[in-house]
Amino acid sequence: MQTEDVNRNNEKLDLRNCTHGQLETLLAELGQPKFRAKQIEDWVWVKNATSLDQMTNLSKALRAELADYVTLGGVEEIARQVSQDGSRKYLLRFPDGVAVECVGMPSKNRLAVCVSTQAGCAMGCAFCATGASGLTRSLTAGEIYEQVMHVRDDFNTRVTSVVMMGQGEPMMNYDATLAALRRLNSPEGAGIGARHLTVSTCGVIPMIKRFANEPEQFTLAVSLHSANQSTRNILMPGVKKYSLIHLYDVMGEYVDKTGRRPTYEYALIQGVNDNEDELGALCDFCRGTLAHVNIIQLNEVPGSKLKPASPERAEEFVARLASVGVEATIRNSRGADIDAACGQLRQRMQEL
Ligand code: SAH
Ligand code: SF4
Repeated sequence: MQTEDVNRNNEKLDLRNCTHGQLETLLAELGQPKFRAKQIEDWVWVKNATSLDQMTNLSKALRAELADYVTLGGVEEIARQVSQDGSRKYLLRFPDGVAVECVGMPSKNRLAVCVSTQAGCAMGCAFCATGASGLTRSLTAGEIYEQVMHVRDDFNTRVTSVVMMGQGEPMMNYDATLAALRRLNSPEGAGIGARHLTVSTCGVIPMIKRFANEPEQFTLAVSLHSANQSTRNILMPGVKKYSLIHLYDVMGEYVDKTGRRPTYEYALIQGVNDNEDELGALCDFCRGTLAHVNIIQLNEVPGSKLKPASPERAEEFVARLASVGVEATIRNSRGADIDAACGQLRQRMQEL
């Protein structure tokens, strides 16, 4: 990249989304030694600097010069809600005005963070508040990462796990999701163990296949919600073309390849996916496979007719799954007293 070009096009280099090579090239053009790139990256990825002025190991003159060539992204917190259980939900706005939610869930010596991968979502699941409004845009890797750092700095403690269970379908934003995961995993980033980084997908099969071939031990969760094709088509129209039979096969390949146990998420919806037929289909889908089933209580979404099933029914699901040898738990609800409007950010943390 030529600095002249950068100037002429008035396009600055985004420090949260450029490559190491791009930054080195820019610095070389500015007559700076290579190691400056590492110094700047440490400010961006480890210290989560929000302005060039914080980069005190760079001279004032260089900081002023850099301001003409680079941007640093930067989120603005526009709202927050704090739960009695200590969870904090944030609404963060990016420079272009797009806003997403993320959540920090503290427990003893742990801080789990739930992030969004897209603003909105195109998949249109019937029970999901995000799905109702469609996709605004995908987030960049830097924007996904920044949510985690914002929560870290707010709690002023190390993040021990991240789940991509906020707004959006990570597998429809695969490259940015993977880049964010790698940065979260890197010792030159957040340094979070790969197994503590979880991607949740509604079941985009080609991308699950790709994910199975990534070298890192990232964790996979699949939103199942019904093992009956006709019910699932209604609940999750965006993945109609990826049939359950195909999903079953691909998950088998995933387990063979990775040796890792995927989680299936199943939000119990009264009168829709909580009957005997559905339970039987779920048992058949999971029996004999390496899987963990998370039974979730549906969060009621304002304006939706869908209601959660009873807690007793959730326990029956867990017991029946156990009776056919399938590990299942009811997921603890966190932040149950903060804002129902989101419809999904409250409820899905467990020991990930
Ligand atoms: N798009 C991805 C990840 C984001 S959604 C996916 O669908 O997996 C994260 C989880 O929240 C998914 O399991 C999703 O099915 C669930 N979810 C969405 N709306 C919900 C609601 N109203 N109640 C409970 N869980 C919900
Ligand atoms: Fe998108 Fe996931 Fe919501 Fe479905 S549940 S609409 S895939 S965010």
